[in-house]
Amino acid sequence: PPVTRFAPSPTGFLHIGGARTALFNWLYARHHGGRFLLRIEDTDRARSTEAAIAAILDGLAWLGLEWDGEVVYQFARAERHAEVARRLVAEGRAYYCYATPAELEEMRATARAEGRPLRYDGRWRDRDPAEAPEGVPPVVRMKAPQEGETTIADLVQGEVTVANAQLDDMVLLRADGTPTYMLSVVVDDHDMDITTVIRGDDHLTNAFRQTQLYRLCGWEPPAFAHIPLIHGPDGAKLSKRHGALGVEAYREMGYLPEALRNYLLRLGWAHGDDEIIPTDKAIEWFDLDGVGRSPARFDFDKLNHLNGHYIREADDARLAGLVAGSFEPAPSPAALGRLTAGMAGMKARAKTLKELAELGAFYVAERPLVLNEKAEKLLTAEALQALAALRPRLASLADWTAEAIEAEARAFAEAAGLKLGAVAQPLRAALTGSNVSPPIFEAAAILGRDETLARLDDRLA
Ligand code: GLU
Repeated sequence: PPVTRFAPSPTGFLHIGGARTALFNWLYARHHGGRFLLRIEDTDRARSTEAAIAAILDGLAWLGLEWDGEVVYQFARAERHAEVARRLVAEGRAYYCYATPAELEEMRATARAEGRPLRYDGRWRDRDPAEAPEGVPPVVRMKAPQEGETTIADLVQGEVTVANAQLDDMVLLRADGTPTYMLSVVVDDHDMDITTVIRGDDHLTNAFRQTQLYRLCGWEPPAFAHIPLIHGPDGAKLSKRHGALGVEAYREMGYLPEALRNYLLRLGWAHGDDEIIPTDKAIEWFDLDGVGRSPARFDFDKLNHLNGHYIREADDARLAGLVAGSFEPAPSPAALGRLTAGMAGMKARAKTLKELAELGAFYVAERPLVLNEKAEKLLTAEALQALAALRPRLASLADWTAEAIEAEARAFAEAAGLKLGAVAQPLRAALTGSNVSPPIFEAAAILGRDETLARLDDRLA
């Protein structure tokens, strides 16, 4: 069974592209009954932060992408990485390079003049270290093959080949003895028994030299799957405005984890025309042959559509609990009960938890309510007169149900020669503080008789 990994660098939050990479690795492992590992690539000591590590772990947990085994921290393994480089030197597969900064600058200038990237010319490949100049701390470089080509049978991109002459002898250990990122990735993936590397296609070019390094080490390279990056709706690189945000930003905007998961899945992967793909189906259906080759485009409308779907499907008490966090102070148990009871009437109207919180705020609000402008306008002198006349009829209603309240309001409107709306709209304004709300008789039923009468009295006083 396959072993996959997600290997983020903790230099920022878990952004949406990283979350998708994690999801694909997780699904691939779960689909094939394999393992999904997490490695934090914290070797950039200046840019890695504890806050970023926490955001990555939290983001994965929130999305439900649980990893197997212990988290591997790459920096802690630096000595092992260096040991592999030293073994390669001992075996003649890597070598000490004493090229001075001035020599490298010269090579760089030549490359610039020829309009190509710097290619180290291999001048210390076969030279005797005894000739080393005084006082130049050497780097270790791998002895990459100079002839032939390196081919990757990428599971998404197909076969990709590069001529070995295009690649130079990459540095494995820096002059201060620390391992380079490329060495660390290869050694860790090998030691963690990773069979399948699924990652963004910005790493495709790295895969060639990583493959060369695997072979020098005498190890079998993993299978690679380089997935196209996520672009904005305009086809350009994803910008903040178009969704290039951390997972926690989506959480704060009021998206459910299952909706974001479904959305990320569809960003670059397809299963026929299916849009709504719950996680159990995703695990059943996911494979790399469904990953497209062109960049996916981020689309908030689709995400909102999916979120609306998952909100409608979600349990009412869970939704109330999620929404409760956005109220200050926290809702009382009674208010939370009202919010839960009101969910059935609200969830079809909301695309995000934020909208749900706005719709349900009146269930939680403390008296006297603050009315919005349109609600104020609804409460004309006539409207208040109607509410005053309705009040005793509600107070003595036998059953406090939506049906009974509505029947009473209708009977009252009819007797008074009013349209139902002339009663229902002022009632809505008084009970919810707004001109829009879930069905008002249902809302009154959920508010309860005492709270309903008290809210009316606040307006009639
Ligand atoms: N740490 C790399 C990144 O965050 C990923 C490297 C890899 O997946 O091989 O882009």
